[in-house]
Amino acid sequence: MQPFWMELKVRLLADLHTAGPGRSVPLVDRCVEVDARGEPFIPASSFRGRVRAHLERLLSALGHPVCQPPNPARMCPLEDGTFCLACQIFGNPSRQSAIHFSDLKPAQAVPELPVRVGIGINRDLQTVEAQRLFLLETVPVSDVEFVGTVEGWLLSDQLGWLIGAIGLITHLGGNKARGLGRVQVEITRLLYPSPNTEIDHRALLKEVLSP
Ligand SMILES: [Zn+2]
Repeated sequence: MQPFWMELKVRLLADLHTAGPGRSVPLVDRCVEVDARGEPFIPASSFRGRVRAHLERLLSALGHPVCQPPNPARMCPLEDGTFCLACQIFGNPSRQSAIHFSDLKPAQAVPELPVRVGIGINRDLQTVEAQRLFLLETVPVSDVEFVGTVEGWLLSDQLGWLIGAIGLITHLGGNKARGLGRVQVEITRLLYPSPNTEIDHRALLKEVLSP
C-alpha cells in the first residue's frame, strides 16, 4: 500500500441542506450544519457515507463481491475470510478504515442562508398534511465551492475504485426528492504513490474500469 492525498471541490447546482443538530435558529425547524465561525460546511461523515454507498452499488453492478451493512450477519469478512473492496477501503466493525475524509469547507464567503417552506408528505395516504409544514434552512446555490481532502493508504486498484465512486456522486445532503443537493464533484489534485508525485486521477480510474 502507498500513501495518497486527494483534494476535492464540490460545486452546488441546487440549494443544499446538510442536517445540523447542534444549532437552532428561531422558527427554523431544520438548520444546516455550520462550523465555529458560522460558515456552513459539508460534514466529512456525510460525504464519506455517500461515497461508500456509491462504491457498494458500483461493485455490485460490476459483479464484484460486496457485503451488505448494516446487518452484521451480512457483513465482512466474507465466507472465505477476505474483505470486500468497500470494507478494505472504508473499514467495518472488525477492520480499521484505510482512508480519512476532511469536512468540505467553503472556499469563498457564503451568501446568507435562505429558509424555505418544506411540506411533510404522509407516505401512507399520499396526501399533504397541513400541520406538517416546516421551515428548512439551505445553503444557496452560488459560485461558492466547497473544498476538502481525502487521504490514507491504498493499493492503486483500491484508489481507482474510490475515484470511480466519487465520480458517481450527483447529490449530497438531504431532501433530494425536493430537488435539493444536486452537486458536481471534481478531484482537483491527487498525490500518489508518494507525497511528491502528482498524477491524473483519470489514469487510475481507467485501470480498474477497463476489462
Ligand atoms: Zn464488506
